[in-house]
Amino acid sequence: MGDQSLLDRASAAAAEHANVTVSINPATLEKLGHVDNTDLTRLPAMFAAARSAQALWAQQSFAERASHIKKMRDYIVANAEELASIVARDNGKSRVDALATEVLPCALACNWYMKNAAKVLKPKSLGVSSILFFNKRSQVMHVPMGVVGIISPWNYPLSIPFGELVMGLMAGNAIMLKVAAQTPLVGKAIEAIVAAGELPVGLFHHVVGSGGAVSTAFFKHRIDKLFFTGSVATGKQLMAQAAENLTPLSLELGGNDPMIVLADADLERAANGAAWAGYQNAGQSCGGVARIYVDRRVHDQFVTLLAEKTRKMRHGVDTDFELEMGAMTTHNQLKVVERHVQDALDKGARIAAQSSAKGPTPGYFFPATLLTNVHDDMLTMKEETFGPVMAVVPFDSEEEAIRKANNSDLGLTSSVWTRNQAKGKAIAARLETGVTAINDHLYTHGLSETPWGGWKLSGIGRTHGAHGLAEMTHTKVINWDILPAKRNLWWFPFSKHTHQALLAALRFAFPRSLGEYVGSSLKLTPYLLKKMFTSWK
Ligand code: NAP
Repeated sequence: MGDQSLLDRASAAAAEHANVTVSINPATLEKLGHVDNTDLTRLPAMFAAARSAQALWAQQSFAERASHIKKMRDYIVANAEELASIVARDNGKSRVDALATEVLPCALACNWYMKNAAKVLKPKSLGVSSILFFNKRSQVMHVPMGVVGIISPWNYPLSIPFGELVMGLMAGNAIMLKVAAQTPLVGKAIEAIVAAGELPVGLFHHVVGSGGAVSTAFFKHRIDKLFFTGSVATGKQLMAQAAENLTPLSLELGGNDPMIVLADADLERAANGAAWAGYQNAGQSCGGVARIYVDRRVHDQFVTLLAEKTRKMRHGVDTDFELEMGAMTTHNQLKVVERHVQDALDKGARIAAQSSAKGPTPGYFFPATLLTNVHDDMLTMKEETFGPVMAVVPFDSEEEAIRKANNSDLGLTSSVWTRNQAKGKAIAARLETGVTAINDHLYTHGLSETPWGGWKLSGIGRTHGAHGLAEMTHTKVINWDILPAKRNLWWFPFSKHTHQALLAALRFAFPRSLGEYVGSSLKLTPYLLKKMFTSWK
């Protein structure tokens, strides 16, 4: 838990330098350094530079864009340990966690978007849907948005913004990035990765400053699209701001994920999976396990297994890689977790197990905590706790499990644990979330090919994969004639012959008999050819 004197020192350091963003290691509460805030009066020049660089970048081939992304990937691989350390120190998570869920996904993202952007975004011809349009052809193309803004949270300070940055660049956009105030050194690390990519000058800008001020400036300068990841409350505020100019917005917001364990599940795997997806990153994962619904017949056995894993976990300051969980990232979030757990205990919940501290824990630590005897009216069941806390609830029927899992305003991800894949898929299809994994949870955020995003208050739009790439673009149709006709059938002038021809066209397209097909074709063809290929005199 936080030592108040150190906390005071940290906030004093921040206050002393109102024009800088200070980085504090949440595990040790040591000041790590600071980053200068961007002078927002420079934004017009930054936008102008971004717009001119983007106009040229959009004309480059996918292969040319990919050559820059490859350099970034190579930099990430060469500097993986240093990057993991920066993330760990700025955010509080362990270096193993940072390597697995931040650095590795960034390299994978470079690779996937480099190799797949052209396939996903290249123009595609459409077939002719009806003989009536025999002279028409259409193509769907993806045009870059222009200057795309990315505003990201502190829980995955590297992998979330960097994945979107790569998607945006491969789709032909310029990027304005603003990372969370709690993780400014990761923002600098992203600058270094991008610098290794040797992008054209002006194509990428890292804007440092408070979220509200930066987003307001983005909207004022008519950002072409904003990709926001963060809390529901901020997402709603941004949507209201975006409404003024109907700025396209992608919102990746909170979650309170359910996990359903059926009686036939491999309980050892389910308990291991829950421990990872619930406690990893000190539970500060939008798509982490929070509510576990277990078939009553295996409930006690599952709780025993998960309690064992929870007790075996070590949390603390990462000195030798030998710990499962680091610190929480912010004092505020620690307070939310303490309040939710106290609320649950006051309403009758029981702590079945907690992790043990390894060494001194001066920072924002909360032990991995397994709760039982929980009810729907507890805060941890109704709201996002966003900490290393999981609650287990028994169910008596699959219908009950599905109903309880769906009983949330949030709908980010979920999971079903069973040896019966068909049953798992059938239940998965009924869960109101953007992703449902079978016998796994959370990790698909690291798969570049799978779209990520939530239902209900968990957000709007999709990031990652082909869907994420498409959201970085305007979808545009180009339509043309193959023969040089003067007019379409439905153009002026109108007459009773036009009326007859249109009826004949309808009957020709959807004949009720062979006679109607032949008759309508004989009526339509001469009129159609005349109308198409003669002048209106
Ligand atoms: P947050 O308070 O909403 O902050 C997120 C980002 O928004 C930060 O960069 C922050 O900047 C900025 N911001 C804050 N207030 C703003 C405002 N009024 N206008 C514009 N920008 C503003 O969220 P958080 O506490 O950092 O992140 C945790 C939340 O993110 C959780 O709810 C979690 O579930 C969610 N999340 C969702 C996903 C997903 O993929 N769906 C992934 C990760 C996290 P400052 O730091 O400068 O305030």
